[in-house]
Amino acid sequence: MKNVELVVIGGGPAGLCATISAASSGTNVLLIDRNKKLGGQLVKQTHMFFGSEKQYASVRGLDITNILFNDIEKYRDKIEIMDDTTVLGYYEDGVLTAENKGKYIKIKPKSIVMATGAYEKTSAFPNNDLPGIYGAGAVQTLMNVYGVVPGKRALMVGAGNIGLIIAYQLMQAGVDVAAVIHHSPRIGGYHVHASKIQRMGVPILTNYAIKEAKGKDHVEQVVIWELDKDKNPIEGSDKELDVDIVCISVGLSPLTELLMQVGCEMKYSKELSGLVPIIDEKYQTSLKGVFVAGDTAGVEEASMAMVEGYIAGLHAADYLGHRHENFDNLIDDLKIQLDSLRNGEKKRMDLPTSEKFKSNFPSIDRINEGPVAVIECFQKIPCNPCTIACNQGSITMENDMNDLPKLNIETCNGCGICISKCPGLAIMVVDGSYSEDRALFKIPYEFTPLPKAGDVVKGLDRSGDYISDVEIVKVLNPKSFDRTPLLHIAVSKDYLYDFRNIRLEDI
Ligand SMILES: Cc1cc2nc3c(=O)[nH]c(=O)nc-3n(C[C@H](O)[C@H](O)[C@H](O)COP(=O)(O)OP(=O)(O)OC[C@H]3O[C@@H](n4cnc5c(N)ncnc54)[C@H](O)[C@@H]3O)c2cc1C
Ligand code: SF4
Ligand code: SF4
Repeated sequence: MKNVELVVIGGGPAGLCATISAASSGTNVLLIDRNKKLGGQLVKQTHMFFGSEKQYASVRGLDITNILFNDIEKYRDKIEIMDDTTVLGYYEDGVLTAENKGKYIKIKPKSIVMATGAYEKTSAFPNNDLPGIYGAGAVQTLMNVYGVVPGKRALMVGAGNIGLIIAYQLMQAGVDVAAVIHHSPRIGGYHVHASKIQRMGVPILTNYAIKEAKGKDHVEQVVIWELDKDKNPIEGSDKELDVDIVCISVGLSPLTELLMQVGCEMKYSKELSGLVPIIDEKYQTSLKGVFVAGDTAGVEEASMAMVEGYIAGLHAADYLGHRHENFDNLIDDLKIQLDSLRNGEKKRMDLPTSEKFKSNFPSIDRINEGPVAVIECFQKIPCNPCTIACNQGSITMENDMNDLPKLNIETCNGCGICISKCPGLAIMVVDGSYSEDRALFKIPYEFTPLPKAGDVVKGLDRSGDYISDVEIVKVLNPKSFDRTPLLHIAVSKDYLYDFRNIRLEDI
């Protein structure tokens, strides 16, 4: 039997942060994860995060893991890590059983932080067990962890953030995305994520569901159908799509089996996506000394998982008699961060129309004066890197990071620094003074191969439709842009309000 002070189960963002805050309080921590590589979902997240600086906004998920590992190293004398180890059982006498490479071990901790994350839900439809039908997270793991391209053409089912992000990453991997379908009239994910894939030409079909998948040894086709307002299929609305990948992204459920096994009090919460433990403000469950954090406490986002992890780790340490010297201030600040992250617009909105995009442009006089930013971010989401990136102070938010960014067109000099810092890729710069008949655009472009100066490529509108050939004037890709290169593109002024993207190959 291994006796330890605190066991943290799960080395995702929540578990890593719980480990850091507990160890920094003086607690000896055993961190267990069933994977060989710590980081949980973060290791496959190649996109920039939302939130504020404190939750590493504008940093890519996989790079956040390295930041957290560096913090773990600071307290390494207090932390033992058991990777490749799965906790299998949790019993009433407080004993955990775990398996590591075929060996079974018993662990008796004085306190626990359960940070086991969540699992992906699936969808019921005929032939949903054909090879080629995946959970979206599995596809993300294949591509971003193992470097395997899962197929040639995909259908994404579910337009929450995960579905939208992975649709974009599929295209980055060279996979054609036939469509993203969503069963309700309004999508669940951020509009800026939706815009990224729409301007690549991917339709987002709301009020659609899968009727069936077809194929012999592998999915070859799916049939989708439209739903009426009661979510019943509309007769005759079938559409057939030839695809060899179907990604199911219809939500996550908290992984709480270990807590249920030991008799922890649970409740069902629709908002938190399933059965979650009943907790107090310390993130302590009905079992004394057993804390939770992250998706185990209810499915939210990685930024919240980190903050909850820090809170649970501080409280677990305090429970064990290791109160952090700055405990009260830290907890107060973390609670403010959590409130702020949760304060975003909950009501689902229609996606912005082309009129909305057009009316958002600065006046034509200002555009013709010289370069100026155009910020296409119309939904209140917890995010503020644009305000921090702009050293002119030209982007502000009224109260907190859930407000919409406001641009001062008088002070903005069109430098474009904010463009590569925006996780929503929602900012571009337009310069009407470039020439008599052409405007210069600066847009972010996260695809390979990159075009080069002098190339003439296809100019696309916000739906990914071809509008005109355009000329690449400059390609900027310094290290400080962190893998979000900036393209300077000369575009006919006829398409001033329409141009938004490019495609290199013929259309
Ligand atoms: C596909 C996908 C994409 C996402 N994209 C985003 C995004 O873009 N932005 C965002 O903010 N959030 C995103 N999320 C959500 C975000 O990743 C999660 O909210 C966050 O990772 C939750 O952190 P966590 O530490 O609670 O869980 P996880 O990151 O899931 O970590 C849980 C860890 O526990 C380990 N574990 C589980 N059970 C056991 C056991 N019995 N024994 C040992 N170890 C165990 C797992 O191996 C894992 O490492 C995404 C989630 C998924 C699934
Ligand atoms: S383009 Fe430059 S000056 Fe204008 S808002 Fe962005 S960072 Fe600020
Ligand atoms: S414009 Fe600002 S608030 Fe909107 S997604 Fe970009 S960085 Fe976030």
